[in-house]
Amino acid sequence: MNTSELETLIRTILSEQLTPAQEKSSADKGVFATPAQAIEAAHQAFLRYQQCPLKTRSAIISSLRDELAPHLAQLSEESASETGMGNKDDKLLKNKAALENTPGIEDLTTTALTGDGGMVLFEYSPFGVVGSVAPSTNPTETIINNSISMLAAGNTIYFSPHPGAKNVSLKLIRMIEDIAFRSTGIRNLVVTVAEPTFEATQQMMAHPKIALLAITGGPGIVMMGLKSGKKVIGAGAGNPPCIVDETADVVKAAEDIINGASFDYNLPCIAEKSLIVVESVADRLLQQMQAFGALRITGGDIDKLRAVCIIDGVANKKLVGKSPSAILQAAGLSVPPKAPRLLIADVAGNDPLVTAEQLMPVLPVVRVADFEAALALALVVEEGLHHTAVMHSQNVSRLNLAARSLQTSIFVKNGPSYAGIGVGGEGFTTFTIATPTGEGTTSAKSFARSRRCVLTNGFSIR
Ligand code: NAD
Repeated sequence: MNTSELETLIRTILSEQLTPAQEKSSADKGVFATPAQAIEAAHQAFLRYQQCPLKTRSAIISSLRDELAPHLAQLSEESASETGMGNKDDKLLKNKAALENTPGIEDLTTTALTGDGGMVLFEYSPFGVVGSVAPSTNPTETIINNSISMLAAGNTIYFSPHPGAKNVSLKLIRMIEDIAFRSTGIRNLVVTVAEPTFEATQQMMAHPKIALLAITGGPGIVMMGLKSGKKVIGAGAGNPPCIVDETADVVKAAEDIINGASFDYNLPCIAEKSLIVVESVADRLLQQMQAFGALRITGGDIDKLRAVCIIDGVANKKLVGKSPSAILQAAGLSVPPKAPRLLIADVAGNDPLVTAEQLMPVLPVVRVADFEAALALALVVEEGLHHTAVMHSQNVSRLNLAARSLQTSIFVKNGPSYAGIGVGGEGFTTFTIATPTGEGTTSAKSFARSRRCVLTNGFSIR
């Protein structure tokens, strides 16, 4: 934007009181034909949004919370049916958590330093248009979560939904754009394209008016973003190990592990992906897990299971996020009358079921002699991704040692993995866990610039 355009804009903003009726959309509620058109519209929206007071941001967020709530069940159902992954009931819990428990502008805390030299303020300011890439595994959750965080930080957003979740994502983006418009009078605070292809995502990443990338997905897309030359918040893959030692409350551990590992058919990147248990409590733990609904696969059936779940060392995409019964059928194994919640199987530590990020309700179980061996294996399984790990133990020194050694963005002690994203655990919710780039569990301040404002000589009242 040149100086005269900027001047005109500032004059417009100063002279007019925006009301919802004043602006008309040039697109279908934020949905454009090309990434360039969408990004330009989001950029224009940002220039106006930037002039709004903080209460405008809060108004959008509170309207989102109120107006999206009645639609979450339907969105969850459509998300499960369009992607063919996960289940509507758990998706509803995830969407509710994103809507109700993602922090708003209260996350943008100001700090001040004062002294003889005056005062320094540190405040959070927006970046501009954020390019947000959403995964197929949490399509609507990520859009809701990032909309709240990024709009709270004062940004506007270009969403790149996964092509496999196009319809439900576009429906949700239109709803969010419309709610934001009715709260502010500004169109295109949230935009996307009618055909969210991989090519569109690549064009978005290269566009000069994208100020920040937030990429939630597998290693390929995160790496692509890191090569873009832009600032990237990369929320990549994980392979969370779950350690159980002999001091653990075995009954609670069994229930927590079943709940976490079966949640949305193990689609969440934070879900327990392998169980590493100290031999002396292994039988008791597995019995308890069976009592809570796990089905134990044994003998040659494990080979059949592995053969369908893992192909060339990676998860078979056709079975990602499928139900335990569907996976049993695919493996040619009989399905019990009462549908199992999780499939469990004793394997060796280097089994592909352990080393691959499966995203399926199939939990490989590795028995080890003691806690030290468990931690050593967990470090190998987590592969330095710094994502998530879970541990069940009553030994505080061991819990601390594991947390310190694994250095994961999320470490859950004595609970299901989802406690780490604020579901049944303390803390806020996020579906963008920035592992390779280190922001960890993201919130509004993660998508804001830290700025320093200095006043010399004064404003210290000490
Ligand atoms: P994915 O990598 O296949 O897709 C993620 C996004 O990247 C999608 O929007 C997709 O359209 C886009 N994309 C993928 N390949 C592309 C290409 N070649 N060109 C342009 N765009 C491309 O991931 P997925 O299967 O949808 O999601 C599962 C993965 O995401 C898992 O590895 C999981 O651990 C990870 N994940 C991480 C987090 C986190 O917060 N760290 C959250 C959810 C999912």
